[in-house]
Order: sequence, then structure tokens, then C-alpha cells
Amino acid sequence: MSTTPFQGALEAIAKPLEFAAAEDFARLARVKDLERGVAAACARALALALPPDVKRVIGLVEASFAKPLAEVEQKPVIQRALAALAALRDPSFADAAIARPLSGLAGIGPKRAQQLAQRGLRTVADLLFHLPSRYDDRRASVRIADLEVGRRATFSGEVKVADFGPRRGRVRTFSAVLGDESGVVTLKWFRGGEAVASSVKKGVRLRATGDVRRYKFSKEVTHPEIDVLREGDEEGAGEGIVADYPTPEGVAPRTFRRWVAVAVEQYSDLVPSTLPAKLAAQRGLPPTPEALRQIHQPAAEADPEALRRRHTAAHERLVLEELYLLEVGLALRHAERAKEPGVALDPARPGVVAALAGLPFRLTAAQQRVWQEIAADLAEPHPMNRLLQGDVGSGKTAVAVLAAVAAAESGRQAALMAPTELLAEQHARTLRTLLAGAPRLRAALLTASLPRAEAETIRAGLAAGEIDLVVGTHALFQAEVRFARLALVVIDEQHRFGVLQRQALAGRGPGGLHPHVLVMTATPIPRSLALTLYGDLDLSVIDELPPGRTPARSVLLREGEGPRVVELVRETLARGEQVYVVYPLVEESEKVDLRAATEQAERIRAAFAGVRVDLVHGRQAAAERSAAMDRFVRGETRILVSTTVIEVGVDVANATLMVVEHAERFGLAQLHQLRGRVGRGKRPGTCVLVARASSEDSEARLRALLETSDGFAIADADLRIRGPGEFLGTRQHGRLPDLRFADLVRDARLVALAREAARETVRRDPGLRRAEGLARAVRTRWGERLALVGVG
Ligand code: ADP
Ligand code: MG
Repeated sequence: MSTTPFQGALEAIAKPLEFAAAEDFARLARVKDLERGVAAACARALALALPPDVKRVIGLVEASFAKPLAEVEQKPVIQRALAALAALRDPSFADAAIARPLSGLAGIGPKRAQQLAQRGLRTVADLLFHLPSRYDDRRASVRIADLEVGRRATFSGEVKVADFGPRRGRVRTFSAVLGDESGVVTLKWFRGGEAVASSVKKGVRLRATGDVRRYKFSKEVTHPEIDVLREGDEEGAGEGIVADYPTPEGVAPRTFRRWVAVAVEQYSDLVPSTLPAKLAAQRGLPPTPEALRQIHQPAAEADPEALRRRHTAAHERLVLEELYLLEVGLALRHAERAKEPGVALDPARPGVVAALAGLPFRLTAAQQRVWQEIAADLAEPHPMNRLLQGDVGSGKTAVAVLAAVAAAESGRQAALMAPTELLAEQHARTLRTLLAGAPRLRAALLTASLPRAEAETIRAGLAAGEIDLVVGTHALFQAEVRFARLALVVIDEQHRFGVLQRQALAGRGPGGLHPHVLVMTATPIPRSLALTLYGDLDLSVIDELPPGRTPARSVLLREGEGPRVVELVRETLARGEQVYVVYPLVEESEKVDLRAATEQAERIRAAFAGVRVDLVHGRQAAAERSAAMDRFVRGETRILVSTTVIEVGVDVANATLMVVEHAERFGLAQLHQLRGRVGRGKRPGTCVLVARASSEDSEARLRALLETSDGFAIADADLRIRGPGEFLGTRQHGRLPDLRFADLVRDARLVALAREAARETVRRDPGLRRAEGLARAVRTRWGERLALVGVG
């Protein structure tokens, strides 16, 4: 199947020629009307939007078949034609052509090309996919009296006065008064007036487009786009709907439009459409070349508003194309991974059964189901690649522990990686209780702040295979850590890790065997994001909380309501329960933040004499912090003041009050995590958000949090408020989708459609052997990012 009109047209020319030439021209005599057929096919190709050099070649072929050939001429002419077409028929020709530098385009010299490059526009394709930011509806002229301040409009009239203003420094303003029967408006040029002055003269009729502004008591338009109307030009008839682009400094909009027009007219039919035809037909989508034309050069009857909102079939084509390529890439990677050699574990060993029975609780139905999904993966001789989603407190750790026991009981090692030292320490503590039923399992904690000698001992234990389960931070995966028999990697709170880090871990098995990878996240990820970021992973969801949980009550207080906070703390302490007080800590203002937290700890100590108050933060020595956490876990400390290091994973059932200071500075997911720290036991929890006056965004976040406790609803709200770019935090490296057209909020449904179509494509044709164009497109766009090896 051809993916571009260009390829289709070329094949229509070449096929009859090849047929005639086959087997040393054996069938030549039987081909009727060869010349007419080839010439007609050439004419159809020449009608396409193709570059001049391509058209020249096709034009030559057309000319050589323009009239019936004598028998002796036929063979050499056919051979020459096929030879001339060979380069164009190379499957990579079109890709290379649209990747040509812009300096090769008519009207763009080296200097212009450099200007464009500064805006990231280097190739023809860059220009073709540089979408207009808005559209001018120039179909109808507005009467000058009806011009509205603050709006963009097209209007025409006669120049009544035109002159330069007084010189101010180096600038001389040129202005012209344009009038029609209804009124007048001033046009102004602060620069470039000299060029305009030659055509804008008294008595000349103009059509102008620009943003109308108020100036003193009248209206004016600065730097309008103008056309001089000649005798007989219809004043009302504008240029239709005109695309308006974000242009580089110093490039006039009209010039830029002309360049885009050249790119569209000379290259658009080289752009592939890779979406399955059925899906495109169902959605009523034009092929990509047609979509580009509709977007850059809309028809007069198009809807400018729909174009502006990027809400047209043409835009949907670009969005779906983009998502489909990404999803095919992810599906291929998924398929590749499923074939990698791995270690089959035995999750049915008696030791695993004993560990399950030894848990201090019974698994919920959701945990049970997920454990089964994971166990089935582990039993395969190929690596598991699974994302485990579950809201805060849904009990993901227990499931991960069972998987670790399965590895150990099968004579292998497991590593559990947490994003912070505190969380790693917390996990190590939790494991001791959870592993009551697996006394033989040898577990260790390895973090960066461990004393050198101790870390050395643990590393040696790992290398010797004497440690079955190691818990740690990313320090676990530094080069000097060697595992004797690593078969399972669990990554907790994946939203803190980049995709690349995830990739780095996967290659750590002994003897080239890939370990099973379980990625856990409590930040519920909106589905559209999950399908793109983690589209290569299988998904398990724990959608149920352990019994007896009551979602924490949320209270929003403003600065100055301190006494109310004190009262809540007092009540909580009176019930024998414990309290968290959390401070934000951002790197830029770390010192100030830390001081604020420290001072607050002092104030609280003073206010609650006789009550033990501890302070934990990320700058503490691990031992000190760990001791403080232990005191809180044991209930000796009643109030824990901390920076956000407790954001994830901390688990103290007796803590029922969470006070978040400067709640306006936290992200929605973070707040949801923090809230999830209380109400973990039988007693209901309360989360008090103390917010200062804040931005619209942060108010929206706080509102969303008060309205729902459903993590997924919160995730969607977060995505809406912050946008996908920021969703995972700016510290993410190798963050996936570099999406140009798709908007994961607006296009959430299309993501699901693209995913379905992609998985279907890859299921039917695993190596994309029958879809060469698609394979190439995926490789070009995502090959490197997704580390695809076997595509195409
Ligand atoms: P998260 O999914 O947020 O990581 P955890 O694994 O930390 O959740 O579990 C939260 C709390 O719920 C822990 O105290 C854990 O012991 C408890 N828990 C987990 N599963 C169950 C269960 N099936 N029944 C009762 N409590 C459970
Ligand atoms: Mg957890």
C-alpha cells in the first residue's frame, strides 16, 4: 500500500513500463497503448504537489511517451524511463525530500534560513507542520465605522492623508488615514515606513488587515497588512480565510505565508498517511497532504472558528497520525520486550504460599487479582513489564513483597527501588512485618547515606548472592552494584523516575537475561497519559482500598486561622492520636523553607509542652532521620514536623491529622499523596490545608482536592490544570511524549483510539513486514526515543 499520493502516482507510471520490460521485453508486443497510458499517468503525477526537480524527471518521461513510438525506439525509451524513475521510487526518497533544508526552497536564502532555524524551522517538513496560530477571516470587509477595538479585521477604503511624523531619534512614524463612506481609521508604521510610503499615497485605495486599537479618541491599526486595490478590484472580496503564523522576528507575515505556500505546493504530496484506512474512513479524515492544504490554505467556505480551535477533520488527521505512530512504536516495543529472554520464576512455591498466609491481613479482592496477574507474568521465561496503579494506601507494597518472595524462593534476587531515602527506609521497616511468614528471606537496605563499610558489605552480599531482597534508592543501580542472580526489579512511585532510568534498569540481569520489571505508582495517572507514557507496559490496577478505611476529611483554612489549627492538634492528641505537620521545600528557597519548618517545630514544642515533637527533613543524616521516624512509628513522638520527604509511602496508622502548611505551593498529586497518609487505620483522618492567598491555578487545585477523594478524578483535574508537560515534574529526564499536535487533555479519546488501532496493527503484522511505510515513519519519529531495535 502506498502511503503518499506521490508513490501511488509513480507506481502508476512505472508498473506498465515494468510489465513491458519484464523477461527481456517478452510481453512488449502485447501491451496496448503503452505510450498513452504512461503519458496520462505522468500527467496525473504532474498535477500533484511535488518539488520542481521531481516534476522535471516526470516531465521528461511524459515527453518521451507523448506520441506513439516506433518499435525500435520502444525498448531504449522504456529502459531510460525506468532508470530515470528508479531514484524517485526508492522508498526513502519522499522522506529525504521533505527533510531537505529550507534554504533550498524558492524565496529562502541562507540568511532567511538561519532566521528560521532559530525558531526550530530547519526542513521543509518543519515548515509544513508549523501550524497557524490563528486565522483571519478576510472574506468580508468590515465598514470602518464598525471596527471594534481589540479585534482583528479586514477593511478597505481610500487614503485621505499620508505622511511621516516628526523624527524621534532614529524612528519616523509613517501614518495614513483611511476612510470609507462610514468613517476613518489611522494606519501606523513605526518602522519600515519608507517602504510603505511609496505605495500608500493620498487617493490610493487599500485593503488592510490588522488588530484594531484605541488611540486617544479614535481607532488605529499599527503595522497592518495591506493590499493596494487597483481599478476594477472588488473592494469587498478579500483573500478568503488566511492563515496567520507565529513568525520569527523580522519576517513579515505575508512573506512567511508565501514560504509555507511554496512548501505546501511543492511538497505536500510527499507526506505520508499511515493511519489504517478503515479508521481514517470511520472518522472522515482527509489524507495527510490534503489535511495540510486545508490547514494552511483553507477553502473559502471553511469555518474559521473551527480552524482556530484546531477542531477540524484535518487537524484530527494530524493528531491521530501522531498518536498512532507513537502507539505503534510502543506496541512494537512491548512486543520486542515480550520476546526477550527472561527468568521463569515459580510463584507457587510453598515459601510463597507461607508468606501470603503470614501477611498481617488478607489481601483484598483487587490485590488478589493483581497478584495473580503478576504471578502469571513471573512464571514466563520472558520479562514482565507491568505497571501497577493503585491509589494511595491501596496496598501495593504487599503485592510487590509477594513477587519478591517468589524470586527468592526460586533462588533469585529482587530489588525494590524507592524515590527517596526516607521511603526506602520506610519500606525496609514495613518489609519486616510483611515478611513475618517468610523467615528465610534475607533482606537489606542500601542507600547513598549508608556508612561506607556497611554499604560495602551489602554490595558484597548482593554480588555473592547472599542477599535475596535489597531495598534502596537509585543508588542501587550505580555501576558498582552487582547482582549475582537478579530476576525482579520493583520500582515504587514511578512518577519520580524518568523513562530512561526505567530503561537503564531493565538491562541488569545476569547472563543477558532481562529481569522482570514491576513499576508501581500511586499518583494516579490519567488514562491518556498512562497510554502514552507507559504504553509499552501491561497494566494492573488495584481499584479498591483495604476494608475499614474512611477517606480523610479535608478542611481548607486560610492564613490567620492558626488558632483553629492548634485546636485540631489538641483534639487529636487528646484522643491519643498523632499529627503530621508538613512544610513545602523547594530547592530555590530551601534555606528559607527549612528555617520555617524548624521555627514551626519550635513553636509547636512551646505550644504543646510535654508532647514530644520531632523534625525530619531531607538534609538530615539518614540515621538521625531514621531514628526520628522510628520514634514516630512507635508513638513516642506525637507530632512530626517535616518537609515533603514524607510525601510518599509513610505509613503510621495512628496518625490521623495532617496539617499542610502553604498548601498553595504543592501540586495536586502531592497533596493527594499527603492526604493519603492519614486515615490509614480504623480511625478517620483529617487533612487541614493551610493556604495563603494564591494564584488561580493553585485555587483550582485546592478546590479539586476538596471536591473529590478519587485519585483518578484528581489526576484528570491535575492534567487539566497543569497540562501534560508539567504533569510529571520538570526534573524528569527522557520524559516521553514530545507530541506536536496531540493534546492529552483534549484528545484523550483519540489516544485510546490510536492505541487500539496500533495494537491491532502490530498483532496482525508483528514485524510490520507488510507496512514498510509505517515502519519507516515509526522509526524516523520514535525509533531512537523508544530504543526500538527490530523495526522495519
Ligand atoms: P500504597 O499502595 O500506598 O503503597 P501500602 O502498601 O503502603 O499502600 O499499604 C497501605 C496500608 O494498608 C499499609 O498499612 C498496609 O499494611 C495496609 N494494607 C495493605 N493491604 C491491606 C489489606 N488487604 N487489608 C488491610 N490492610 C492492608
Ligand atoms: Mg506505597
